[in-house]
Amino acid sequence: MKLFIATLGTETNTFSPFVTSAQTFEETYLTRGGGHGDTPNTFAVPLVLWRQRAEALGWDVVESLCAFAMPSGVTLRTLYKQYKEEILADLRAAMPVDAVLLCIHGAMVVEGFDLPIADTDGIDCADAEGDLFEAVRAVIGPDVPFGAELDLHCHLTEKKVRNTDALVLYKEYPHTDFPERAEDVFEIIKATVEGKVRPVQSLHDCGAVGVFHTTREPMRSFVDHMIALEGDESVLSVSLGHSFPWADVPELGVRSLVVTDNQQAKGDEIAADLCRRLNEIYDAAQPPYLKLDEALDQAIALAEDPGQGPVVLADVADNAGGGASNDSTFMLRRVLERGIGDIAFANFWDPIAVQLAISAGEGATFDLRLGGKMGPMSGDPIDLRVTVKKIIRDARQTFGKPPRTSKGRMGDAVSLQLENGVEIGINSLRTQSTNPDALTQIGIDAPNKRFIVVKSMQHFHAGYAPIAKAILYVAAPGTMIPYFDQLPYGIARRSLRGIDG
Ligand SMILES: [Zn+2]
Repeated sequence: MKLFIATLGTETNTFSPFVTSAQTFEETYLTRGGGHGDTPNTFAVPLVLWRQRAEALGWDVVESLCAFAMPSGVTLRTLYKQYKEEILADLRAAMPVDAVLLCIHGAMVVEGFDLPIADTDGIDCADAEGDLFEAVRAVIGPDVPFGAELDLHCHLTEKKVRNTDALVLYKEYPHTDFPERAEDVFEIIKATVEGKVRPVQSLHDCGAVGVFHTTREPMRSFVDHMIALEGDESVLSVSLGHSFPWADVPELGVRSLVVTDNQQAKGDEIAADLCRRLNEIYDAAQPPYLKLDEALDQAIALAEDPGQGPVVLADVADNAGGGASNDSTFMLRRVLERGIGDIAFANFWDPIAVQLAISAGEGATFDLRLGGKMGPMSGDPIDLRVTVKKIIRDARQTFGKPPRTSKGRMGDAVSLQLENGVEIGINSLRTQSTNPDALTQIGIDAPNKRFIVVKSMQHFHAGYAPIAKAILYVAAPGTMIPYFDQLPYGIARRSLRGIDG
């Protein structure tokens, strides 16, 4: 038996001020032919796991590209073509293969997504992974089992489903379950190769966009229901594609996907029922966003309550994980104006400030212009007098829940001290904070701060919830402002619930 595996992923915010380039992939994670080391990067985990499982069965494994880019704006078309051709060339060289497993995000949008396919060398730029799947299927033919693991923020398009045998999405947001879902899709493809099951997929359009945290009700019970449905032997996998609302693509929207063992009608029924249930709980499922001052007022009140740990304020609109700059100054400015102290910020992306702080050295005090560099959605820069507390070169931070944790790159990281117990983490690679170790490693005592502002939509939750007294979601201005009726969609259906206002 021979298994072919590869990773190609990013989540494209078509409203983001950046493009996704080769450098974006290189800085996030890019390797070829395996060799992920003893502590695999977060984005390599599924490939490492599939290789271990396959080799334990005595299968040969051919690993192609493993490339993942921090979410940004559209991916350059020449780059997508290059990665696609590389994967296809490796696949052709490996033929005949008995199975294919790909790890993708599922919301990659390529430059030219707003043009007709005839003008983009035949590439379906609005659905890059659907385009890739179609090309892979053309190489392997209709009978080779082909599965993939996707982020739940994928656009679950008909092309992706049509060209594969089994797609399995993460169920949890934050995505703490990606190793388990990698196991799930491996099991389905293994059973298919062995002739024990014949997977068929049922897709249903829920007609909505939104943000669905699975850490709270009613989504917690919704996910538990999906898991319970998989208790039926003929139901191989149940997924909900949340979609990624900051993308102006034709198939934007929440969709359910059910993989059954050759039970199309049953799968169709379950998929339709999931959308019905989702629409029932839709309003209650949306995060309880607070306006900036309202959030600061609540945080101050909560800090007076008995109990340990900081009040964590999520600056959701400046989430690098969704294509924002991580350098917006709206919250910092208001915190300084209101004189709020004993507060840490995780974390500003400001490579120039990092460079200046490193050159000044630990203990140096100087005037620094911080943040606000990437466009109107970053706000204005802030002039500060700072002291450099600690510098860590090539810093990493934890993602996930023990024991299945992995490490993500942060670049060089520095802590800055201001008056009044205000401390700011800055770093040179654009990334959201997923764990308080982003702060503690640079000498900021995160668990004992009164407040922490974290520039993240929800992935911070896995790492910060265990130390937080309370968590507030703040809708300050920023690239990822979570009011979809205000986004300038031109292609996506405006009739979707959540956009229709
Ligand atoms: Zn996601």
